[in-house]
Amino acid sequence: MRFSCVGCGKCCNDHHVPLTLSEAVQWAADGGTLIVLTEGFLDNERLGLDPALQHARRRSLRVPCGSTHAYVAITFAAYNQGPCRNLDENLMCRIYERRPLVCRIYPMEINPHIPLRAERKDCPPQAWEQGPLLIHGGKAVDPALGELIERSRQADRDDIAAKAAICKLLGIRTMALKGEGFTAFMPNMQHFLQAAVRVGELDLAAAAEQQPWSLHAPSEALVAQLEETGALIAAALEQHNLTYIPLRQAS
Ligand code: SF4
Ligand code: SF4
Repeated sequence: MRFSCVGCGKCCNDHHVPLTLSEAVQWAADGGTLIVLTEGFLDNERLGLDPALQHARRRSLRVPCGSTHAYVAITFAAYNQGPCRNLDENLMCRIYERRPLVCRIYPMEINPHIPLRAERKDCPPQAWEQGPLLIHGGKAVDPALGELIERSRQADRDDIAAKAAICKLLGIRTMALKGEGFTAFMPNMQHFLQAAVRVGELDLAAAAEQQPWSLHAPSEALVAQLEETGALIAAALEQHNLTYIPLRQAS
């Protein structure tokens, strides 16, 4: 698979850009808006057998959920409806030299269990018809790109406890079931920055794994299924200023 960016700017439109924790703090400090997306899955015996779940577990935090435990994954993403705030009129990135990791990696997938498919990406056909080889054997050919992907995966692992502690301070303690969708929360940016500072100064990340979380179940069938496991089912999301994004709508 060959690839060369043609600079169309499409990937800088209508995408919530997942950020590392330090990037999210910088984004908020620069005046940008963040959306917090949460998803998770229950601890179960399949975990040791399923490589995709093992990958998900490594970027998640194991937390109490009712009488059982769940793994919660938290994404702090730049909230982009329409063009990104950093995209200029010539479709150039105003913060190119310090753009987020994910922007440097696109169109590659960060999750090793999601194959790269050109038809799922915003890049036009001509971008895939030229340039150097992008992947071989499922891996990035360019070692520098491979290193960026690994940095992104490592940041997910390193940041998760601090992200969970920030969520606690913001009152977010509900996750959607992985594979079904995400719960979404738009924090006040000043509150977000204050929470990030407090978590760092008071080392609150260390206690984040003791904070109970609940699961959002958007259907009666799912409620019944989850209740059997002992999981804590969330009350109505609106009570916590949360919304639900079914997976088919997520981007
Ligand atoms: S930060 Fe730059 S590269 Fe990333 S989405 Fe915004 S304009 Fe595009
Ligand atoms: S959508 Fe693809 S081709 Fe267009 S700017 Fe983004 S990476 Fe480049």
